[in-house]
Amino acid sequence: CGIVAYVGHRDAAPLVLKGLKRLEYRGYDSAGLALLDVENPADAGLKVYKKKGKVVDLEHELAGKDLHAKIGIGHTRWATHGAPNDVNAHPHFSHDRKLAIIHNGIIENYATIKENLIRKGYIFRSETDSEVLIQFIEDIRKETGSSLEEAVRQALLEVVGAYAIVIISEEDPTQLIAARKGSPLVIGVGENEFFFASDATPIIEYTKDVVYLNDLEIAVVRAGELKVINLDNTQTTPYIQKVEMELEA
Ligand code: GLU
Repeated sequence: CGIVAYVGHRDAAPLVLKGLKRLEYRGYDSAGLALLDVENPADAGLKVYKKKGKVVDLEHELAGKDLHAKIGIGHTRWATHGAPNDVNAHPHFSHDRKLAIIHNGIIENYATIKENLIRKGYIFRSETDSEVLIQFIEDIRKETGSSLEEAVRQALLEVVGAYAIVIISEEDPTQLIAARKGSPLVIGVGENEFFFASDATPIIEYTKDVVYLNDLEIAVVRAGELKVINLDNTQTTPYIQKVEMELEA
């Protein structure tokens, strides 16, 4: 239901949590966060924390944990496939736990894709359509040897439904990949930092420069650069505009 993601020089965790609170008006049943800490090589893996309930319940869960990270994705879920519980909350890992996804919307043909993946030995931890999408992307990547960006594009060509997604990967901690069809997604463009959110409210205290991602577009941030491509693999020039919105206290 609500998406907030960040990559840049700030601490991602508090920023993402604050952003999720700004989106609380949209309604939700659980909340979660994935972080990638590259500055501590001894502890470089993707970390996912998620909890049924409010963002404050997630915050209680996070108390005392090392949340150091410059890249993070956060989600508030409004369950459509699978009960509201900790396991079905987002983010969802790929099977190898190297990718994490947050997803708003519904993957209508998830059952067919899931059956094929199960036949290939994939195991699912949750009942969500969203976990099917990230394992599908992982499988395409492994089958074709393509980049993550290309695997996301291939997967989305097969998907029926509506989505706003953001994906991070352990293999490139400077990279965020996002896409949308039917669910809103706004990109905040700062100086060497990028914000992604379901609407501009989590972004405007940091930057007024935003790009409204169009349907069937994929946004890739890598090493401080933003690129937008269409699902048919043509590049488009992102249109940066000033958001007029004022922040309520
Ligand atoms: N369909 C997904 C789920 O049930 C995403 C729901 C949402 O938009 O929050 O987990």
